[in-house]
Amino acid sequence: SLSDRLTATFKNLRGKGRLSEADVDGTVREIRRALLDADVAVPVVRAFVAQVKERALGAEVSESLNPGQQVVKIVNEELVAILGGETRRLNLAKNPPTVIMLAGLQGAGKTTLAGKLAKHLKAEGHTPMLVACDLQRPNAVKQLQINGERAGVPVYAPHPGVSSEFDTPTGDPVAVARDGVAEAKSKLHDIVIVDTAGRLGVDTEMMQQAANIRAAINPDEVLFVIDAMIGQDAVNTAQAFHEGVDFTGVVLSKLDGDARGGAALSVASVTGKPVMFASTGENLDDFEIFHPDRMASRILDMGDVLTLIEQAEKNWDKGEAERMAKKFADQEDFTLDDFLMQMAQIKKMGSMKKLLGMMPGAQISRQQLEQFDERQIDRVEAIVRSMTPHERVAPKIINGSRRARIAKGSGVSVSEVNQMLERFTEAQKMMKKMAAGGGIPGMPGAGR
Ligand code: GDP
Ligand code: MG
Repeated sequence: SLSDRLTATFKNLRGKGRLSEADVDGTVREIRRALLDADVAVPVVRAFVAQVKERALGAEVSESLNPGQQVVKIVNEELVAILGGETRRLNLAKNPPTVIMLAGLQGAGKTTLAGKLAKHLKAEGHTPMLVACDLQRPNAVKQLQINGERAGVPVYAPHPGVSSEFDTPTGDPVAVARDGVAEAKSKLHDIVIVDTAGRLGVDTEMMQQAANIRAAINPDEVLFVIDAMIGQDAVNTAQAFHEGVDFTGVVLSKLDGDARGGAALSVASVTGKPVMFASTGENLDDFEIFHPDRMASRILDMGDVLTLIEQAEKNWDKGEAERMAKKFADQEDFTLDDFLMQMAQIKKMGSMKKLLGMMPGAQISRQQLEQFDERQIDRVEAIVRSMTPHERVAPKIINGSRRARIAKGSGVSVSEVNQMLERFTEAQKMMKKMAAGGGIPGMPGAGR
């Protein structure tokens, strides 16, 4: 029955007991869909969802959040943890230079990242040098030299020429890497960034070469660069590099595209390595320190919900909420007094536009939200206070002459009284929709 549904919805407000399978399932289903939409690899999604479910089941019911919100909160915490928790900073060598090696498939964004990272580190007061070890791809050395010039840092490269037709330098990338690091040391650069070659797909020869470079230069960091658009392939590629070269951190590139960053979760989850930087464009400044918490909300696509959850936890008044829940259970009873109280509660909770969407079970459109203005709450209050108790519980009786009297009493125009009563009717309709079982858009599990 209706009242059963509502009792279930507001069960959390009693702040007793534990989350049940029924509380958790709906939201977990939404989360699974959100992760798959974000292109998180299927096995990763499966494992993650199981982990979240296990933690959510048996969690103590929150006083301030409904079960859906509570599950979203757990999901977010788990996501942040997998992505590395805190932002991890580069490991700097005690005896400079700090050696940073880049690895990843061809086209992943290594050479671009080399320039970005050099520029970033230079701005932080370091004296980086770049080393060009991609001797396979035509123009790879030249590309790094251009990036180095833009970043204002020197580039160590093998002597050019030799392969006549393709402008491809020949030589041994391992030797170049070793010589480059020695050069950086002798010239007192405190950081050296070694760019390497990649292939279009995972390839044993490439992996062996990367492993050999690693062995030769003993880097302090090996950064695995992966294209955020790679999607489901992220797991296999990351695993291959994890086993073949072994890396210490992940850089997610091309995050300026459509990708929601599911690859970050896939890679971090299967390798246990933190994501450290994000590349967000072709220019050297399109570079960011990676923040696990921000990426978690990007992957979930629920940034607003998370903000609301935080605020709700801080501000939710349990007593008011319970009274409101009872009123919701019988929408016919929803009066102007309740409307007033709802306004006051919302006002207390913070930004009205955002928080209206949080009223338990409320279903409200973006357009409706836009129409609300926090300053109007005060005016609404004045208008309702100018009404008789009877008018407040039976607004239908408020005819023209009553409207004129109310307008006069509250110091507003009759048309403002009319507008306010329209808004009240809207709110009443909202209650009816809610009572009919609608959910909050974008808030899974909230509207059972
Ligand atoms: P590498 O083969 O791993 O060295 O990859 P590159 O650095 O040569 O990059 C391959 C292509 O991707 C180039 O055209 C870059 O301009 C482009 N690229 C690299 N990083 C980004 C990024 O973060 N966003 C976008 N949109 N393009 C990028
Ligand atoms: Mg390259």
